[in-house]
Amino acid sequence: MTAVRPPGTPAIQGDHLISTSPASGDETGRVPVTTPVDVERAVERARTAGQWWAGLGFTGRRERLLRWRRLLAQRMEQLADLIHAEGGKPVADALVEIVTAVEHVDWAARNARRVLGPRRVRSRLVLAEFSAHLEYQPHGVIGVIGPWNYPVFTPVGSIAYALAAGNAVVFKPSEYTPVVGQWLVDSFAEVVPEHPVLTAVHGLGDVGAALCRAGVDKVAFTGSTATAKKVMAACAESLTPVLLEAGGKDAMIVDVDADLDAAAEACVWGAMTNAGQTCIGIERAYVVEPVFDAFVDKVVERAGRLTVGPDADIGPITMPSQLDVIRRHIEDALARGGRAVLGGSDAVRPPYAHPTVLVEVPEDAAAVREETFGPTLTINRVRTIDEALTRANALSYGLGGSVFGHQRAVAIARRLRSGMASVNSTLTFAGMSTLPFGGVGESGFGRIHGEDGLREFARAKSVTRRRGRSLLPSTTFDRTPNDVARLVKAVKLLYGR
Ligand code: NDP
Repeated sequence: MTAVRPPGTPAIQGDHLISTSPASGDETGRVPVTTPVDVERAVERARTAGQWWAGLGFTGRRERLLRWRRLLAQRMEQLADLIHAEGGKPVADALVEIVTAVEHVDWAARNARRVLGPRRVRSRLVLAEFSAHLEYQPHGVIGVIGPWNYPVFTPVGSIAYALAAGNAVVFKPSEYTPVVGQWLVDSFAEVVPEHPVLTAVHGLGDVGAALCRAGVDKVAFTGSTATAKKVMAACAESLTPVLLEAGGKDAMIVDVDADLDAAAEACVWGAMTNAGQTCIGIERAYVVEPVFDAFVDKVVERAGRLTVGPDADIGPITMPSQLDVIRRHIEDALARGGRAVLGGSDAVRPPYAHPTVLVEVPEDAAAVREETFGPTLTINRVRTIDEALTRANALSYGLGGSVFGHQRAVAIARRLRSGMASVNSTLTFAGMSTLPFGGVGESGFGRIHGEDGLREFARAKSVTRRRGRSLLPSTTFDRTPNDVARLVKAVKLLYGR
């Protein structure tokens, strides 16, 4: 089928969503559009399924999630081909994405009981006559709304942890990658055929909005900051809790003692993998004066070698409208006095954007302040690390970041206003299943991955149990003035000195 709109633009035909390749415009698949009433029905069905799933306990869920992991690992190539066809991502990048998702399924399945299971916690001297018990119980049904840029890694970062915690999930994939989303759901149904524990609803943004209002117990959203605000507003109507993984404008800081070859290599990867369509992609670099020129040369040399095309290092831009944003950012940077040392004003040739490196771009340029989501990078010179940090931290976004250096690198990373940072690498925190993933400010809040990621999909349930008579009874109408006086005396002895 030839698309009437730019290649890659999804279209609704009748009651189906047609997904097309951004490279060729060919149809990659179609899924039925879910009506608002059907979204509510999906949530109702998920609620029943979730009760069954929760009842399996940690052992039953672990066993089934590990079966899903096995199936994902066995069919990696098939899934990667689909990601490539539907989103345009190079197959090798798609495989790396799947590897990361598989790792998260494995970790969530294996660690849910340890992190969330029932345990005794210590009592304190006040109320020593009670034992304390804690466990983390599932919310019920989680609505997961995902983006198109990492159509497996991002939703699985929520789905695997939500399922491991004992929830059912209703998943709304991006309209740009519905077929990959459906593939994930179908593969899960192969290993858990009994009940619709993981289901998909499809359509445009209105279907995501309907999901927020369909009675789910929590929404885990990954996407742009603008949509995150709409999701939060919709969820506010029913006090539905939200987890928001939104946009970013991550910076790399290069210190004077950095290994410049390694820094340039990681910078080009961090900025240009998946054609720069990465929420934690490096979009800005701040480099101290003594190593600035050498660093720029190395980045340009490496980025200049990247190939662009349907089966190259840099694939097409998945969302055709993003090409205008990329073009605007480049033109604005040049108009404000920035210099293109690679690529530049003719870099956008639909459906591709070619690698572009801009230097000395004023800090108020769109290319420095707004998410570009293309294979572009600004590199600016700074006198000191403090100046680098001030500039890196100046935006309302705060997702990830990277530091290259030796002596001070970790200390610098800790001062980045972001939820994550990698030292002497880029993006690596995303694949570390033991570490939480999430941002600050306009990059969102809440965490997926790691122990925090499991707790995000469960609520703490606290139970106290009497184990003896109260020596200092206070929470009873039977208390005497003498009991209260002894309590006050005891607390003054304990805490008043
Ligand atoms: P969008 O915000 O456009 O869409 C995200 C999802 O929300 C899609 O499934 C979309 O559906 C849906 N949606 C759209 N409107 C609404 C609405 N009113 N209510 C509920 N859901 C809605 O983001 P993109 O898909 O363009 O993804 C790119 C963005 O995601 C970038 O900003 C990127 O930084 C961010 N991102 C953040 C990550 C993180 O972990 N922090 C990871 C990956 C990406 P539809 O597609 O059908 O419109």
